[in-house]
Amino acid sequence: MALDLTKYVASIPDYPEKGIIFRDISPLMADGEAYKQATAQIVQFARDKGVQMIVGPEARGFIVGCPVAYELGVGFAPARKKGKLPRETVKATYNLEYGTSELYMHKDAVKPGQHVLVTDDLLATGGTIGATIDLVEQLGGIVVGCAFIIELDALKGHEKIKDYDVLTLMHY
Ligand code: 5GP
Repeated sequence: MALDLTKYVASIPDYPEKGIIFRDISPLMADGEAYKQATAQIVQFARDKGVQMIVGPEARGFIVGCPVAYELGVGFAPARKKGKLPRETVKATYNLEYGTSELYMHKDAVKPGQHVLVTDDLLATGGTIGATIDLVEQLGGIVVGCAFIIELDALKGHEKIKDYDVLTLMHY
């Protein structure tokens, strides 16, 4: 029987700031069956897309993407914050509530024409996933899908990625 994954998300009021409800996926990751079910749903979504590579942003995008890559038998490449990658990189800038941030990937992390699935734990405004998609496309990769555990509908991140095929396991 399928588990109700909403039972494995902790909602933390006023974190990291007053008025924000933080959706914490660590109970889901801590439960073998729940983590496996979430991974299996993303694997199923990815299978018919001919995914050849998975890319996820630091750090919870790794937690979602790596088990999917393992199960599909494809590689995983990280999109990382400034100063973390030792070789030549490409960069994408995105907006935060105050100011901007940057994500980087190694120049050879994705091959031109490769079919890529991008993963993260949560879609909020879409800035993080938008920058991740930008990096993959700068490298010539083809984003064939985006997968999230959670989407915060009120923040309308979905509009930023409306041209892509999106799987979200839970909506808040
Ligand atoms: P966005 O760039 O879409 O505004 O924010 C999404 C990014 O911020 C994701 O990488 C995600 O890990 C993190 N994030 C923002 N809010 C939350 C939250 O409530 N819960 C979790 N788990 N991550 C969040």
